[in-house]
Amino acid sequence: MRRPFIAGNWKMHKVGGEASALAAELAASCRGLDDIDIAVAPPFTALPAVRKALEGTPIALGAQNMHWEDKGAFTGEISPAMLRDAGCRYVILGHSERRQFFGETDEGVNRKVRAAFSHSLIPIVCVGESEEERDRNVTFVVVDRQITGGLVNVTAGQLAGLVLAYEPIWAIGTGRTATPAQAQEVHLAIRAKLSTLFGKDAAAGVRILYGGSVKPDNIDSLMAEADIDGALVGGASLEARSYERICKFERSRKGIS
Ligand code: PEP
Repeated sequence: MRRPFIAGNWKMHKVGGEASALAAELAASCRGLDDIDIAVAPPFTALPAVRKALEGTPIALGAQNMHWEDKGAFTGEISPAMLRDAGCRYVILGHSERRQFFGETDEGVNRKVRAAFSHSLIPIVCVGESEEERDRNVTFVVVDRQITGGLVNVTAGQLAGLVLAYEPIWAIGTGRTATPAQAQEVHLAIRAKLSTLFGKDAAAGVRILYGGSVKPDNIDSLMAEADIDGALVGGASLEARSYERICKFERSRKGIS
């Protein structure tokens, strides 16, 4: 059984004091939730403050991006070693906002994925189609290409240390969530693709998160789907009560206790 995983992407929100206050609130409200994995990915500058606030709690730290090189003349970039040093366990890679606004490509994502593995960081690799691509019925083609390109030279053994996030671009920050059936259809296709590339067993173990306007009022129905193993949450992770409710999704729908 795949252990559910809820990750919060704080994007470019929260300065140090605000970030540590939110992390402390989350730590208190999610105390005792030991049947799922929980992470938050604050902006780089808030990593030290959030790390301190989460000390001794099961909530893990993640980053929102990184460069693939260990070090060097890459002004403005952050290396995998720096993220490890800052206490990160996870790194979000290939988020649609990085692809859309910063020209990130599947090849770049792939370099970052492999760098994450060499530094024992768990990559959360984001894939997903635009509204126009969905309308043209090429969702599976797009996701297939992003997975194939993003996972070049990744081994079946490494796959266990990777998380995928299906994030339809039209659902991110728009309040338009994919229906559970729409999301499940793509998650199933992603697992089938992983199975072709890495074998059935490796594919069966990979956690696939859904992202795109996940809120307290839709998390339960999304989590009820067989191939939805968790959520990557943007806006609703910036407010302690809503993130807590998302982390406290109805366990019975997932066959947990
Ligand atoms: C995201 O940033 O990955 C995301 C899914 O955002 P939101 O939940 O706000 O749609």
